[in-house]
Amino acid sequence: MELVAAPPARWHLPLQDGALLELWADEYGVEHGAYEFSVLVRATEQEQAEIVARTPADPRRVMVVVARLPTGSVQDVHTASKPSRDGACVCRPFSWAE
Ligand SMILES: [Zn+2]
Repeated sequence: MELVAAPPARWHLPLQDGALLELWADEYGVEHGAYEFSVLVRATEQEQAEIVARTPADPRRVMVVVARLPTGSVQDVHTASKPSRDGACVCRPFSWAE
């Protein structure tokens, strides 16, 4: 299995319990009350596990799910401008309040 797109984006998900989840994925969507993060890869049929989409031109290029979290456990989702430090988000997401 190999990544097809550029390196995946880094995402931060501050969770309701105060923990921070940091993960790398090309995109996410909401399905059945859960965030689903996925990456575009080229994979053999045996390697294709949790497929969410297939490219029309090449059936070996597929979006596979790499993480799934109930939306109720997540406070916020943003692309991370900086790596976390000591398990905490140090990005400053855009805010109208500032
Ligand atoms: Zn962040």
